Amino acid sequence: MRALTLVADRKLELVDRPAPPAPGAGEVQIRVKAVALNHIDVWGFRGMAFAKRKLPLVVGAEAAGEIVAIGQDVTGFKPGDPVVMYGALTCGACKACREGRDNLCENVAGIMGFHVDGFARELLNLPARLVIPVPPGVSMRDAACAPIAFSTVEHMLFDNAKLQPGETILVHAGGSGIGTVAIKMAKAIGCIVITTVGDNAKAEKVKALGADHVINYRAERFEHMVRKITAKKGVDVVFEHVGAETFNGSLLSLKRGGRLVTCGSTSGPSTSLNLMQLFQQQYKIFGSFGASMRNIRDGLAKMANGLSPVIDIEVALDEVEKGLARLEGRQVFGKVIVKF
Ligand SMILES: [Zn+2]
Repeated sequence: MRALTLVADRKLELVDRPAPPAPGAGEVQIRVKAVALNHIDVWGFRGMAFAKRKLPLVVGAEAAGEIVAIGQDVTGFKPGDPVVMYGALTCGACKACREGRDNLCENVAGIMGFHVDGFARELLNLPARLVIPVPPGVSMRDAACAPIAFSTVEHMLFDNAKLQPGETILVHAGGSGIGTVAIKMAKAIGCIVITTVGDNAKAEKVKALGADHVINYRAERFEHMVRKITAKKGVDVVFEHVGAETFNGSLLSLKRGGRLVTCGSTSGPSTSLNLMQLFQQQYKIFGSFGASMRNIRDGLAKMANGLSPVIDIEVALDEVEKGLARLEGRQVFGKVIVKF
């Protein structure tokens, strides 16, 4: 079977690997149909000196596929069922796992496609407990955006920031994979959405998604524009993932007692913080990474109800570097999908 394998930093190869054996007890075998790319794929592709992992490694952290076979004691799945897969090898037994806080698993064995072999291969076996059915009417292409993009945004907006209808939210990088999802999810519950983009072509596109106010961060200081748009009040919630370039501006964009939730630092990992401002303004800052199985189910349910992901491009398995370059160069509008 074909598998897209990272053999060295910035070096991907499409290799032939032996197909997996029949699924063991408690496992299912899945034929992968679509993989969605994320920034974690860019980090993995560039190489991370401190990450505990060994190359070669099959890439792909987010995917959808179809059940091919089921192992002993597996109920609830049958061959042909469309499914998505959780993107990390959680233990299923620790307190966090038992309580449904999967992304806080105490014994996680790694993130798929980053620490351990990922989904960019034709077939794989996985514990059935990490597999989630795709509801009728949701395409494989769209479902592939559920395990990370949709679920990460669900977890950030609703579990962490507790975004409420009618609140005002600043969504950074509105054209990114998660930015597009955040705009749509916030609009779906009746929020006022301010978003940032890097060029005017993207400004038109985010307006079409429902954004109420668009700021071109290359032309204007976004924090000044946010204060102007909100009549100096600031926003209730900031959706952060840009990091060093924007973090302090994001805090300045919040109203007193406002919430900032972040899941990324694409522009750099370090920043300084004014602690006086932090406590006097009573900001709440949430770090968010990954999501729970419940978040993935909720995201899929939203897709089934018509909240579909924005797709930037679909590329073939041997064109993944083209997709990664679009992510790295901030050219994307929505998600990059790898077709099988
Ligand atoms: Zn666990």
